[in-house]
Order: sequence, then C-alpha cells, then structure tokens
Amino acid sequence: MEKDVFAELTKLKKEMVGSLMELVKIPAISPQSGGKGEAEKSKFVEELCNDIGFDEIIHYDAPSRQGKRPNLIAKIKGRKSGSPRLWIITHLDVVPPGNLKLWKTHPFAPEIRKGKIFGRGTEDNGQDLIAALYALKAIKNLGITPERDIYFAACSDEETISKYGMKYLINRNLFKKGDLFLVPDGGSPDGSLIQVAEKSLLWLQIETTGKQCHASIPEQGINALEAGSYFIGRLKNLRKAFGKKDPFYEPPYSSFAPTKRLENIPNINTIPGTDTFFIDCRILPCYEISEVLKFLEKIKKEVEREKKVKIKIKIIQKEEATKTKRHSPIAKVLKKAVERVCGVKPRVRGVGWGTCAAFVRKLGYPAVVWSKVERTAHSPNEYAKIENLLTDSKVFASVFISL
Ligand SMILES: [Zn+2]
Repeated sequence: MEKDVFAELTKLKKEMVGSLMELVKIPAISPQSGGKGEAEKSKFVEELCNDIGFDEIIHYDAPSRQGKRPNLIAKIKGRKSGSPRLWIITHLDVVPPGNLKLWKTHPFAPEIRKGKIFGRGTEDNGQDLIAALYALKAIKNLGITPERDIYFAACSDEETISKYGMKYLINRNLFKKGDLFLVPDGGSPDGSLIQVAEKSLLWLQIETTGKQCHASIPEQGINALEAGSYFIGRLKNLRKAFGKKDPFYEPPYSSFAPTKRLENIPNINTIPGTDTFFIDCRILPCYEISEVLKFLEKIKKEVEREKKVKIKIKIIQKEEATKTKRHSPIAKVLKKAVERVCGVKPRVRGVGWGTCAAFVRKLGYPAVVWSKVERTAHSPNEYAKIENLLTDSKVFASVFISL
C-alpha cells in the first residue's frame, strides 16, 4: 500500500510545486507585525482542501481587533472514527521579509532555482503545509481509509504568540484525551532530527539605575552602562553554576545569552544614568527556573553593592520545559517512516526553540516535531528544496496509513 501511495505522490509532485508557489504569493504577515493577516491565504488553502475532498471542513476563526484570524481544520474520517485522533498542525502566517536588499528574488514572487523554491514562507511553513495536504490527497485518490480520524489544521498567529491560533483552539476544547500530534515545523537538513521536548525558556529584563552627569567629570555620577555591562560579564558564573550537559538536548547545555539592549542617551558626552538589557535563557529541565532566578538575584546584589546602582530584574516570559515520551506511538511510527523514506538513523531529541507542539505537550498530549528542512526559516532568501517537499509528503503519508 505504501508503495502505491509513494508512486501517487511522485505523480503529484508537479502539482505540489505549483500549489506551494501559489501559496507563497499570498503574504500572511500577522497584524502585530504590520501585515494584513492570514484571511486570504486561508481561503486558498480551503480551495485546496475542497479539491481533495475532505469529509468535513471546519472554521475556528478567532476574533481580534484587527479582524478575524482564521484557523482552518479539515477532517478525514478513519475506519475507527472517534478513536484517538491524529492531528497535523501547520501554520499560515509568515514573518516579515526584513531588508529587501538582502533578497536575490522578491520574497512574495517565488522563483525556482536549481531545485529550490525561493520566497518568504517557502520553508516556514509552506513546504509542510503543502506536503501534508498532498499526503492526504494521495490517500484519498487511492481510496484508502486510514485507521484513525485525521485532522489537518492550518493555524494563524504562530510567529507571534499563537493567541489567535493554537492557544485559541486549545481554549475551544477541541482536543480529546488520547489525541496525537504531528507538528511539521522544524528539523534538520538530513531529516534525522525528531523533536519531542523543549528546554525551559526564561526571558528577563535587567534594568540598572545609576546617576547621570557630564562625561568629563564621571565621578559625579554613577555609570549605569558600565554597571549593566559588569552584570553581563558575571553571566559566566551563571553558565558555570548551571553547566550540566544532557546529550538528549541540542545543544546539550543550558544557554544564557544577553541579547537586546535599549538605547540610553543620544550623545557621547553624558554618563548614562540608566541601562536596560535582556537575557534569553534556555534551561535544561534538570534545573528549576527558580534556581536560576535565585542565582541572578545573587549577581544583582553583588553588582548593586560594588557599583552602587539599583537593579530591577523583570520576568518577560517564562515557560517550563515540556516532553513527549520517546516511545509514544506517534514518535515510534514517525521514527520508522523517517528511517525508511530518508534513509537516516533518526535522533529523538529535545531542543531550545518552541513550536505549537509546546502548547499541547503542556496539556499532556504527545506531540512530535519533524520536517526535512534546510533551516532557512526567517532568513532572507528563504527556500524549500523541491526534493524535501516530496520526501516530507511521503513521510506524512506513511504515518497516516500506519498509525
Ligand atoms: Zn514555523
């Protein structure tokens, strides 16, 4: 049966490429990032769904101040309808293209060059949205009925906070006990990475207050920039204290990176009285977030004492680590499919970045993240390999018929 499905997908390859090109022509940048949202793109995906002949198409449009944010769900009935269901979660929205000068093609006028389709949203998440749809199309074309009900979802708002996407769907109590989730939104170039966990995430704002004065008489003030930088220098102690390694995760250690810094004074000849920077922490689950915060509190007191400043630590975002069992049926079936189709030995791992899978894992549902990607998401000249489009559709089809 699998052989026939793969042959059908090979036949559909050209059509798949055409659909991905059409999809990418419709920018779906979220209104929070200055775009028009996902409505038009969702309509296009619905047309594709109609063409495939799903048993049911359901809209869960989230109301927002900037208009409706569409969430499209299409269902194929399984032989054991109503039994634990398989969800495949993709997203419609894309990130803005950024500086257009860095692009060799227009981000929303996709072009094929050397077997790669260039354009914003080709890899993230167009490739796998289309691959999943065509995997279902191939099954339908051959008249195959899967064991379980399969739900294909194209969500909004993934690139911002998922408030109008996955979180909205969770709040509508859409998911039932036993449901399994496949989220094709990240992976590795050889296809071997199956992600089943993520580290804890902690984003902090560190605000230092000193005393502003003329830069020619610095001793009359307290330089907040210097104190803030001293704090950053101390992060090496944090890294040492939380230095355990766990090869299950990629990278295998906790990371603590100072990132954004707010502008202070516009001129060179003033000692800045304030300094604000941010830290992005990805913490292995062997540590509690509270332990990290306690350690930072210690650094804060030391810097305050030594530099005579006041420091405020504010938590911007805090997410506990989540995990899906390595041996959950979805992980097992996916592993076998990847091994067969990609010819690689799958690595079941945890990572530092989050996807829609994190929201359902938190509720105790098994969720795996997989795709064969070149990791060009969010970069200028983002592209999807045509070969990967076909490979991914085969892997999904294999999961659909063997789960
Ligand atoms: Zn994505």
